[in-house]
Amino acid sequence: MYPPLSLYINGRFLSGEGRQEQDVRDPANSQLLGHLPWASDDDLMQAVLAAHRAFETWRISSPMERSAVLRKVGELARERADAIARHITLDNGKPLAEAHSEVLNSAEHAEWNAEECRRIYGRVVPSRNPAVRQLVVREPVGVCAAFSPWNFPLSQAIKKVAAAIGAGCTVILKGPEESPSAIVALAQLFHDAGLPPGVLNVVWGVPSDISRRLIESPLVRKLSFTGSVPVGKQLAALAGAHMKRISMELGGHSPVLVFNDADVDTAAGMLARFKVRNAGQVCVSPSRFYVQDQVYERFVAAFKLAIESTQIGHGLAPGTQMGPLVHGRRLAAVDELVQQAVSVGGELVCGGQKLGESGHFYPPTVIAGLPDSARVMNEEPFGPVAAITRFKDTEEVLRRANSVPYGLASYVFTHSVTTATRVSNGLEAGMVNINHFGMAHPELPFGGMKDSGMGSEGGTETFDGFLTTKMITQI
Ligand code: NAD
Repeated sequence: MYPPLSLYINGRFLSGEGRQEQDVRDPANSQLLGHLPWASDDDLMQAVLAAHRAFETWRISSPMERSAVLRKVGELARERADAIARHITLDNGKPLAEAHSEVLNSAEHAEWNAEECRRIYGRVVPSRNPAVRQLVVREPVGVCAAFSPWNFPLSQAIKKVAAAIGAGCTVILKGPEESPSAIVALAQLFHDAGLPPGVLNVVWGVPSDISRRLIESPLVRKLSFTGSVPVGKQLAALAGAHMKRISMELGGHSPVLVFNDADVDTAAGMLARFKVRNAGQVCVSPSRFYVQDQVYERFVAAFKLAIESTQIGHGLAPGTQMGPLVHGRRLAAVDELVQQAVSVGGELVCGGQKLGESGHFYPPTVIAGLPDSARVMNEEPFGPVAAITRFKDTEEVLRRANSVPYGLASYVFTHSVTTATRVSNGLEAGMVNINHFGMAHPELPFGGMKDSGMGSEGGTETFDGFLTTKMITQI
């Protein structure tokens, strides 16, 4: 049922063949699913050389050719959605319906980049001398090293790969070793769509070894990473030392502002469903809830009722709304934050203890009445944990919402246009959602401020990180 896993280098799928291997397990029950081959030093070198060679021709390929490949990738992803989604559920744990919608969203990303890559325009700048022609052209940066995480193993990877390839770059992708099936499926999609050998390469291994080797290589010009803030900072420092360009999509600790005039019950229901999505392992998951005094009690009660009804189980079981956390490290990290919150006076409204003996299950957990100094109010929980606290007025809540180093997503519930305008201007976040959740579409730029990252993925900005600007002046 689970597919064979491989490396993909210079257009060839490479399996174990004497390479070191890593076990891949189902996070719901620890069952062994497969073995993931790690790239040897020679494999890594071959991947870099293949990407470098392929860049010579891919960089001058017609945008129509790139567009055709990306469009075909979208079409094939839709055809294969059922199988890819089942395998994501097995190695990541998320419910099948969520995995399925991730595959369809990934197809849309390929299609969006297929359209946009035909519109990578330069410009003509009027010159001071009528005999001079001045052009500004945009060229692909070169070989890119891309690092994608396990929480959306297909869509996080395709955002990078489709943008890089659409811009005319070549890629060495290291996906998440915990949830690798989607990345192998991604390589197969591009392979079957007719991508020339070497334009995309997939490698696996010890993340810190691979990132260091790739960033240090003079043939690699760009790094794109999605993951945690601490790792992002390490990689940014390394990239800086070697003068490599970077795009960073890092963690978040998204504030939710519920004002007295909000539709409280609707907001509580929507937020509860969104909170348990992917067991809260989402960089834009709502995680710090600030609720205005008058509606505080009502919101906590409605949120508890909605989130407690979440059906937890294996992602393939019918009716499951939330699966396990992806690995034991997350389970321990989430539990530690919850216990610390309780120890500093937080009221445990529901959840708060690991579920069952097997698998990495943690229940939806709500903690109310916390001081702002509690760790969970300052550190990203990246799990099904909601911390709820009160506020009195708009300026106070803006100050508190902006008090952490993160600046990714934010959520506001109010019917006042004045309040919505004030907070959407004042929030230090790359994305502001007012009265709904609407940001993972490929036509919208996705990215953070402050420690949450640099650059955007998606939108008309999709190629910005993969292009460099050249000025040509001619007489
Ligand atoms: P982690 O920091 O150990 O790993 C996070 C990701 O980074 C993994 O995919 C890992 O393979 C990769 N990674 C780690 N060290 C690396 C290195 N030196 N070079 C290249 N890649 C490296 O944490 P974790 O427990 O696996 O994940 C939880 C944390 O990761 C959360 O705090 C969250 O912020 C972050 N995360 C963020 C996103 C996102 O969408 N921004 C996605 C997944 C994880």
